[in-house]
Amino acid sequence: MTSTRHDWTQKEIEQLFQQPFNDLLFHAQSVHREHFDPNAVQMSSLLSIKTGACPEDCGYCPQSAKYNTELEREALMPLGEVLSAARAAKAKGASRFCMGAAWRNPNDRQLEQVGEMVSAVRDMGLETCVTLGMLEAHQAQRLRDVGLDYYNHNLDTSPDYYGEVITTRTYQDRLDTLSHVRDAGIHVCCGGIVGMGEAPSDRAELVQQLANLPQHPESVPINLLVQVAGTPLYGTEALDPFDFVRTIAVARITMPQSMVRLSAGRNDMSDELQALCFMAGANSIFYGDKLLTTDNPEAERDQKLFERLGLHLCADTRASGDVPTTKSDDKTCAA
Ligand code: SF4
Repeated sequence: MTSTRHDWTQKEIEQLFQQPFNDLLFHAQSVHREHFDPNAVQMSSLLSIKTGACPEDCGYCPQSAKYNTELEREALMPLGEVLSAARAAKAKGASRFCMGAAWRNPNDRQLEQVGEMVSAVRDMGLETCVTLGMLEAHQAQRLRDVGLDYYNHNLDTSPDYYGEVITTRTYQDRLDTLSHVRDAGIHVCCGGIVGMGEAPSDRAELVQQLANLPQHPESVPINLLVQVAGTPLYGTEALDPFDFVRTIAVARITMPQSMVRLSAGRNDMSDELQALCFMAGANSIFYGDKLLTTDNPEAERDQKLFERLGLHLCADTRASGDVPTTKSDDKTCAA
């Protein structure tokens, strides 16, 4: 059984990235099989509950108020609309409902409004996840009190490359929010984005940061940059797709018990590339035609792909009162 480590050196991680592709995939798939059913994939659905006009300057993001991306701004969605979307997502097989708001950080009033959404979605038997920007300790605690299962807050990239992408908040700000979330007892969803023009060493450093957190994130989304006209990263040289697969594989090897999510960028991926990502250890996807504001594969295409690959969904575990994370406590994705 692969041991869970939190002391990876950058050199060790770079060596994993540099393995011959077949060796790396075999390694990752072997680790994956120790902890998970290799043919089970968890499906989450993501809804933008407040869109655009964000004061941050994340260079990849169409929701930043600093870039002209012709995105229509929307105020916080009414509770009823959120619940209809959650109901529809559940009917299509999603077991987790994620809600994203384009804020630098929520104020306490906004947090209460989101808290109502969390409670109501949870009552429908779905796991809940929100991504609202930076949180203070008392806010994380409040979200825990209303029953939030997961908080998403990505590290995005390596500490070295970070300043090339975002200047309005620091890497340490992100780590602080993650530790408030962890301290409150909420599961952590944290990953990054590749294909932003970073060097291979930055991808290794990003994985190192994630894998050396005191506790691995239960969910690790690996995103491929979706280039949106009007954002500073539009026109960045595309990443070799095999380097994307390698990132998934190294995340799987270094965080063996985490759900590794194939996230943004799937719409532009061939079925064959997605199959390689599953082989490399990805076992979670976002379902739905939109990922916040960018396109995502249609549900029918996903269903067909699942059939062709003999994949099945992890069943809903909310009813068990537990959240699937590891071989020992995951009732549905475990090996
Ligand atoms: S990624 Fe989030 S914080 Fe950054 S600009 Fe977009 S909405 Fe704002």
